[in-house]
Amino acid sequence: MRRLEFIGLTAVVAGGIVAPQGIRVRRDVVAMGTQLQMDVVAGSRSRALSATEDVYQVVLQADSLLSTWHPSQLDSLNHAAPGDPMALPSGLATLLGEVLPWRDSTGGAFEPVSGALTDAWDLHGEGRVPLPTELQAALGSSGPGAMTIADGVGVRTRSGAWLDSGAFGKGAALRAAQRALLADSVDAALLDFGGQLLAIGAPANARGWTVAIADPQDRSRPAVRLLLCDVSASTSAQSERFVTVDGSRYGHILDPRSGRPVPAWGSVTVIAADPLLADIVSTALFVMGPEQGLAWANRHPALGAVFLVGDSSRLRVHASIGAEQFILRP
Ligand code: ADP
Ligand code: MG
Repeated sequence: MRRLEFIGLTAVVAGGIVAPQGIRVRRDVVAMGTQLQMDVVAGSRSRALSATEDVYQVVLQADSLLSTWHPSQLDSLNHAAPGDPMALPSGLATLLGEVLPWRDSTGGAFEPVSGALTDAWDLHGEGRVPLPTELQAALGSSGPGAMTIADGVGVRTRSGAWLDSGAFGKGAALRAAQRALLADSVDAALLDFGGQLLAIGAPANARGWTVAIADPQDRSRPAVRLLLCDVSASTSAQSERFVTVDGSRYGHILDPRSGRPVPAWGSVTVIAADPLLADIVSTALFVMGPEQGLAWANRHPALGAVFLVGDSSRLRVHASIGAEQFILRP
């Protein structure tokens, strides 16, 4: 795997004296095929640095559990012979036992056993539009009937079925990172893992970390500012990862019920105390779309959802009840 790493040290200096909150360390690594940017404040340089190393190690562990790009525990299940039961390592069984019920809680919008659909549209390759018969076959190799996971045993019941960790892997890794940072008693931290944020505490003299949600149509433009403290924020959109076939764009988020890529209506950011939950729900709400998604989010006020709905002339912001507390008004 590519590995890019540099360590930046930034002492938080106030009037020539190191601020009482401690030393701030920036470290960027590549993990799970994306950038992990760490900004950690701790009592000393060595404590801040070792906290970044602890985060990096737990993220690598999550990758060895969940990668679908190189060998991992999940990858072994995904390549098991159809019909052959496979005993799952306990960490994987526990995580999948927590993740899979979200397919029902989201009315089928979140469906990790959707790899056959990703293959049918060749979303990891050049892209292609499947024939209706191919789409039906891929739908048959997706969903709860295509792979059963119960009592620590996984069985691929349909050939072509595979479980895609794309919508929850970063969240699982960030949850492990959150635990590591809390165990290390850092003063504050902000992690940006390929766009999913984890905020712990607040930098000096602030109530939280100020971050921006990008305009989904122009990702260099900040659209909404959030103040985050002890939460994670996950954004789902079609604007960054898509294939183009005959001039039409198809994004990487699929509606598992139709088997088709969801139209690029904008973006949704989900804010929750648990990074795994934020990741799962952001993908699910993107599939539901801004109307149904907002109604779902308002029924779950323990998490916040910010929908940015773009048309060519203006960008509309719809915030769920649970999101209001995080939004910084100009
Ligand atoms: P990102 O990967 O940019 O963080 P998401 O968290 O929204 O974005 O995850 C999108 C990924 O999840 C896709 O690339 C694919 O691997 C997988 N996926 C696509 N559609 C679904 C779906 N409806 N339910 C579960 N996983 C999905
Ligand atoms: Mg997700």
